Amino acid sequence: MKNYLIKNATIVNYDKEEVGDVLVKDGVITKIGKNLFEPRVEVIDALGLYLLPGGIDAHTHMQMSFGGTYSSDNYYDGSVAALAGGITSYIDYAIQKGDDSILETLDKRLKLVEEQKPLTDVYFHVAITRLDEKILDEFKDLPAHGVHSLKCFMVYKREGMQIAPDDIAKIMVEAKKYGIMVNIHAEDVDQIDANIDKFVEEGKLDCKYHYLSRDEEVEYAGDKIVIDLIKKTGAPAYIVHLANEKGVKLAREAKKEGLPLLVETCPQYLAFTSEVYFDPMKGLDFVCSPPIKNKASQDELWKAIIDGTIDTVATDHCPFYHEEKLWGKDDFRKIPNGCGGIQYLYIYMLSEAIKRNIPFSRIVSLISYKPAQIFKLKGKGEIKVGNDADLVLFSKEGEHVITKEEDKSKADTNIYEGLTLKGKIVRVFKK
Ligand SMILES: [Zn+2]
Repeated sequence: MKNYLIKNATIVNYDKEEVGDVLVKDGVITKIGKNLFEPRVEVIDALGLYLLPGGIDAHTHMQMSFGGTYSSDNYYDGSVAALAGGITSYIDYAIQKGDDSILETLDKRLKLVEEQKPLTDVYFHVAITRLDEKILDEFKDLPAHGVHSLKCFMVYKREGMQIAPDDIAKIMVEAKKYGIMVNIHAEDVDQIDANIDKFVEEGKLDCKYHYLSRDEEVEYAGDKIVIDLIKKTGAPAYIVHLANEKGVKLAREAKKEGLPLLVETCPQYLAFTSEVYFDPMKGLDFVCSPPIKNKASQDELWKAIIDGTIDTVATDHCPFYHEEKLWGKDDFRKIPNGCGGIQYLYIYMLSEAIKRNIPFSRIVSLISYKPAQIFKLKGKGEIKVGNDADLVLFSKEGEHVITKEEDKSKADTNIYEGLTLKGKIVRVFKK
């Protein structure tokens, strides 16, 4: 069913809402208007429903190796969960290993995608974990291979994945020449390692010490380094999974000053607070890095969602089985870091938009338009003629409580279980 006409929908784009009809032929939007007629196509009556551009999850980790296991969803599994939640594209992280070049890193992951045949579009950021002249020399070839973003970890020094600030600066300067975005995992690694050593020595090992070793101040210190790097280089940077109050305020000021800073947060930081870590068993499932922060941070993030300080909301989807999470019940260093959520990103944010009276256009900007713009995904992010017909038909009516069973992700951990969502997806169209 690739030819169809959606009638009388409230069409939501990042900048406006308008009632109209959308004609799709061979998976492409060919006409938008009022009172459209087209013979021999399926007609879908969408009166009273919202038509949104397909969601784009700009931060996932499918089949990623971590702490002796792999995140539980491969590219196919992740796409099934994604589509169930109106996410029609996701951008995964290909992480450089050993002597692999950037393009070798990418090719290995593209091969997995080819084998696993995901139902959504899949794109990649490449995470650089070691830097030399040859790596820098590759940058000029990346856009032609569809890579428009790189990532640097300020953290994971002991794991051999850290890029020190001076090297991040070099990467930012070189990347800017080719219009490549640099995504940064910002936390102060020296503070983290010192905190971990201290807690281990004191025998403080349950999961709340994961949070306390990487608390609000630790993340804020990382954010300050990013702002300094932008000032020093004049090159843009994108902070992934920003989660702390002072970091949000700093980002707001930086943007007011006109610095080329972009900011992402994740639904887990909006839906929960650090209280979750004070239950030593259930808290395991919520362990991710950076950890979920205090109530003041949660409140500030919501302010930033509304005022535009936050550019994108993405999941950092990286689910593990509870059995694997249990490896760290007596030593927080052994808990696989990550939570699932790709299925809930769009519907959780739309539900919150209903509850908090935020226009849907704002959510569409965060989860479709901006990710497409920032990461240069052609034909995505907007309902407009010529774009791919990745579309979500959504109703504001009804509500439901999230259960573990409905989660299409392979893992048996669902941190969103028990939350009540308003509204529902009526139908998802994928090109
Ligand atoms: Zn991540």
